Amino acid sequence: MSSQRERRRKAERISELLETEGPVVNENVSLMNRGRYDATENFDEYEDLRDEVRAIKEEAIADLPNLLETLRESVERNGGNLYLAADAADANRYITTVADERDAESVVKSKSMTTEEIEVNDALEQDGIDVWETDLGEFVLQIADESPSHLVGPSLHKSRSDVAAVVNEVFEPDEPLETADELTAFVRDHLGERIQGADIGMTGANFVLADSGTITLITNEGNARKSAVTPNTHIAVAGVEKVIPGAEELQPFVDLIAKSATGQAITQYVSMLTPPVETPTIDFEKPDEPLGSGDDEREFHLVLIDNGRLDMRDDDQLRETLYCIRCGACANSCANFQHVGGHAFGGETYTGGIATGWEAGIGGEEAAEDFNDLCTGCSRCVNACPVKIDIPWINTVVRDRLNGDAMPSEFEFLVEGLTPDAEGSVDIQKRLFGNFETLAKLGSATAPLSNWMTSFGPARKLMDRFVGIAPERDLPTFQRETLVDWFDSRRPRAPNATAERKVVLYPDIYTNYVLTDRGKAAVRTLEALGVHVELSTPKESGRAPLSQGMIQTATDHAENVTDDLEPYLDAGFDVVAIEPSDLAMFRSEYEKFVPSHYDRLAENSYDVLEYVYGLLENGAKKDVLASSTTPVAYHSHCQQRTLGVETYTEAVLDELGFDVATSESECCGMAGSFGYKSEYYDLSMDVGEDLRDDFDGETHRQFVASGTSCTEQLEALFAREVIHPIELIAPEND
Ligand code: SF4
Ligand code: SF4
Repeated sequence: MSSQRERRRKAERISELLETEGPVVNENVSLMNRGRYDATENFDEYEDLRDEVRAIKEEAIADLPNLLETLRESVERNGGNLYLAADAADANRYITTVADERDAESVVKSKSMTTEEIEVNDALEQDGIDVWETDLGEFVLQIADESPSHLVGPSLHKSRSDVAAVVNEVFEPDEPLETADELTAFVRDHLGERIQGADIGMTGANFVLADSGTITLITNEGNARKSAVTPNTHIAVAGVEKVIPGAEELQPFVDLIAKSATGQAITQYVSMLTPPVETPTIDFEKPDEPLGSGDDEREFHLVLIDNGRLDMRDDDQLRETLYCIRCGACANSCANFQHVGGHAFGGETYTGGIATGWEAGIGGEEAAEDFNDLCTGCSRCVNACPVKIDIPWINTVVRDRLNGDAMPSEFEFLVEGLTPDAEGSVDIQKRLFGNFETLAKLGSATAPLSNWMTSFGPARKLMDRFVGIAPERDLPTFQRETLVDWFDSRRPRAPNATAERKVVLYPDIYTNYVLTDRGKAAVRTLEALGVHVELSTPKESGRAPLSQGMIQTATDHAENVTDDLEPYLDAGFDVVAIEPSDLAMFRSEYEKFVPSHYDRLAENSYDVLEYVYGLLENGAKKDVLASSTTPVAYHSHCQQRTLGVETYTEAVLDELGFDVATSESECCGMAGSFGYKSEYYDLSMDVGEDLRDDFDGETHRQFVASGTSCTEQLEALFAREVIHPIELIAPEND
């Protein structure tokens, strides 16, 4: 539950990281993203492979007990040992016992998030054993005494000069090291000596093949295979979810992982080892001795970690997390992550969008509490994930579980919602934003008084203090005459009643009570194009409570909305939505909430400009629409892009002759209620800076945005009017 103190703590932490680590993270992640876009766009099999790896993972996790048995037989047949560790302490006990039995004095490690998870370095060091990270990024973090900030690039938050500063401070070389070449050469030599002298080599495993006991290491530095085979004893540590049946299933993962992670066609090294390997051992103190002169026989231990994973497997909502191949694409594609990095957007070990699933799975939901709200549910990461994991859904489920008690009814909200936080109650901030429908009805019924109240300085201070609404944000201006009032005032009127096409326009809460002009424009446009238009009852789609983690409330709303739309669908109406996030509910999330209604609604619901595009394509006359009079700067909405419908707006504006400059920035930073929250205001504005840069030279244009959030953010950034594209093309007269 967020108190004002807690919100302030979060805000200060985020502001600090926005200045310190954010710019470096953003630069490094942008490079990875550019590579990913190129690699995936030019890869014809990309979508097919995504389906394939998803199916392999689903089957492998379902069949995990059998795969583990097969793997045990394979590893033991090869002469190795398999240990299934119940938790981190169990794994560390096993590993330190192996080290003690070998009288090991030093261990070299390649990068492994699973060993970060179990904190094996601490366990070994407490046992008096030297541990050296041999991955460059991990090594830098080790000497800087910091934690990883990214699944793939653990020191992604550090620039070259940051790395040089750490290395020079710790090692005090005769001449300070500066260039990347100097730094890597120094570290390579330093770690080469550590690898040669190590008693044990420890690696992770990207994939473990059950039928052969083969582990696959996918790296760019070559340190992993050196660590695995130079010492006589090799310990590989991996989560149980890394087991797949065999080499045939491995190939599509190898094809996808580097493209998704760094944009490479394939990583520099793909090492497949079936330990204990037969490579001869070497005694580096006697370089003239023949190969095989190293002391003992080779020894191999595969330590598979449960640590909550088998419970995740039984959890219908968290199970998907186990399909994750840790490529980091979800983090890279996430605007909030890009700006604040993994030290804010992550837990003890895991970072980025999927971190909530991992941290909640291995440490309980509370382990994700501090950063879970950084996910705005924008869904951009879903298309980036090679395994098609519904990351925002996992984040929402965990948020729902963290919320605890059921959300109060509208009446309870009105009675309780204005009281300060009480320990054990549902967060008032979430309750308020999740119940925006109630507020909007009240605000509209009491406008203009409500609008005066919400802009009154002392009232805003109270809202900041008790609810966590950023005082810097302008609040919505409620309209006394709602869209439905306006529509009804035009009756008796049934233009196009015999028309071939019939549309029920879904009046989302914003369109009905706040941004009524875009609703009127939609009605006028559709009617001018010969469509018969009705309005359904204005009801919250469920998006607002869903983004607060109020799943039951969202489900109730979804049921209400589908009940309302069903008769229209029965009568042959198409459903048209103006707000992209609501359309995304119909076409995506409703599959979970109202499965029996989902298919028909998803197939028959449209973005308003998508629908206009379809009408024009099918012969409707474009000269009834407003013609181009002014150049336009257009920003589409995240969820429009996830649905792939943003192109229709651009196509319609193009068809009507508008000169359109489209923003390149993928996220405005506002994300519904997110930008209104005091603790996230700075972050939302920082993300918005990219959009400001996009449109800085375009101020002679009319600003146009499809989403409510984008509209609000653009108005905040540029202090000027922003309209919906439908307002641009609507005929002027009713
Ligand atoms: S849904 Fe959006 S905000 Fe959430 S993790 Fe994915 S990209 Fe980030
Ligand atoms: S959730 Fe998907 S995108 Fe994110 S790290 Fe895992 S596999 Fe990669």
